Amino acid sequence: MTGTPRPHHGGNLSFLKRHNRSAILETVRRSPGVTRADIAVLTGLTKATVGAIVQDLLHREWLREGELRQSGGGRPGRSLHPDASRHVLLGVDAGVKSLRLIACTLAGEPLLQRHLEQAPTTPEETAGVLAARIREMLADETIRHRHCLGLGVTLPGPVAPDQPLLRLAPNLGWRDIPFLELLKPLLPEITGHWLLDNEANAAAFGEYYFHPGVPPESLVYLSASTGIGSGLVAGDGQMPTVVRGRGGLVGEIGHTILQPGGLYCHCGNRGCVETLVSGWAIRAALNIPPEQGVTEALWPRLSEPEVALTLRRAGEALGMLLLNLHHTLNPPEIVIGGSLTGLGDALLVPALDYFERHRSGLLNTDGQVAIRVLDDSTFTAARGAAAEVMARAVGAP
Ligand SMILES: [Zn+2]
Repeated sequence: MTGTPRPHHGGNLSFLKRHNRSAILETVRRSPGVTRADIAVLTGLTKATVGAIVQDLLHREWLREGELRQSGGGRPGRSLHPDASRHVLLGVDAGVKSLRLIACTLAGEPLLQRHLEQAPTTPEETAGVLAARIREMLADETIRHRHCLGLGVTLPGPVAPDQPLLRLAPNLGWRDIPFLELLKPLLPEITGHWLLDNEANAAAFGEYYFHPGVPPESLVYLSASTGIGSGLVAGDGQMPTVVRGRGGLVGEIGHTILQPGGLYCHCGNRGCVETLVSGWAIRAALNIPPEQGVTEALWPRLSEPEVALTLRRAGEALGMLLLNLHHTLNPPEIVIGGSLTGLGDALLVPALDYFERHRSGLLNTDGQVAIRVLDDSTFTAARGAAAEVMARAVGAP
């Protein structure tokens, strides 16, 4: 053999190009009105690189030019802004109890939202219902003139990391479902990027991608609904990545064990987190009929001692889970969403109290982790799936 191995220039160039494109888009999104010269200073890229990529982004209509601006003592340059008027991203969240659809701009601003209080039945029927609703949305006056960059779908269970295959949704009884293969043929008009993800992963991605201000170095989204899941996103602010693991199980914290020998879980093990805090466990403990939502059933009953005790115990279990996440992943930010946050203080105060009282046992971590509870996370996962479509478009050649 002669010579040294050659680096894989093609792959590296393509990666660099995507990374630079992403960095420039991100810079304009966070500081609308910047000029090409400002971007070169802020990103450390050469003016020639910035010029070429900005040209491409203007051509795609992801950016638009504004007024002439003086910057840094040089020649005046055109200000640049995200172009929120040309494209639309679609996201769908098929949850255990309802279907949520969103159409949003490239910056994540909602254009249309639909919440159908309709539980998924079979995968085939659910694909049919969703296709009809998506087609209705696409025909709506608000978005019909926009170019659709693609559709992201979320389901409540682990998704294979290397293909759009739902491995298992225990609370739906679905197993090994290539859901996009059912949906795609019904919507041939959507020609952009298609993707399938776990609901909590997508929500985490969206909270990171559309983060107000500078995103943290990593973020965990804790989804507390019928089941309990989480998503972990890490990144340098430009190309965030969902950490998925070998089989897509990263973040399936609802099935970590908090009580050895405890109650049986849907997964077959005993004492999982979900047996202590989840919509289904609270429903079973307090005999809530299936046709009623947990939050609406419990709001009028919060002063009943049995309800208060059940929610306090569930809240403490949630606090333990937060503590375990803090010690295993140490994210600077944890976002809590999902329908159970609608139970308010009865659940959240014991959870946050438990966390506050125990988090500094190992290191003094006061102020090092921000916990943000979403008041309304109805469309968080759907919007996250839309964010993943955008990231896919940015990363495409
Ligand atoms: Zn379990």
